[in-house]
Amino acid sequence: MSNSQQPDRAAGTQAPATPSSTGPLSGEAFTSPAFLGNRDGSRWSDPKSLTDQDWRRELTSEEFRVLRQAGTERAYTGEYWDMHTEGVYECRACGTELFTSREKFDSHCGWPSFWAPAAEGKVRYLHDRTFGMDRVEVRCATCDSHLGHVFEGEGYGTPTDQRYCINSISLRLVKADDSE
Ligand SMILES: [Zn+2]
Repeated sequence: MSNSQQPDRAAGTQAPATPSSTGPLSGEAFTSPAFLGNRDGSRWSDPKSLTDQDWRRELTSEEFRVLRQAGTERAYTGEYWDMHTEGVYECRACGTELFTSREKFDSHCGWPSFWAPAAEGKVRYLHDRTFGMDRVEVRCATCDSHLGHVFEGEGYGTPTDQRYCINSISLRLVKADDSE
């Protein structure tokens, strides 16, 4: 920001009577939004108010592509598709607990799969008709980030016969040992 001070006397006119706006402004002293530096544990007061620009600061470009632009990580490349460690899977964007290892099962589809979220209301659902398919998108109910899709009636031997097919990169595993 350039706040150049102009004499404004070239034409012999008097300086305006209104108070000058070129006082001792601290132009660049923009304080960081409260959510910054607040990633470990505590939640943001309202993650839904964050702009794309905010999220780009918070997330890696790949996290942003999946979480905020509804991208999909390539099958069998994510961190958690073959993970069997006990713990809680948090939203990587906002830290809300979304899934647990208790509902995780081996679907062999290349993405971490759960037969239910950690609790009702943790996720929200949207109809997704992109790519000529009729799918149900799963998003974090707290920050509205994209997580993956849920499929039903595929014949997996789980209590719900649902498969929450979630991108590893949308999640962060907090191992049971660590949280004690
Ligand atoms: Zn979230």
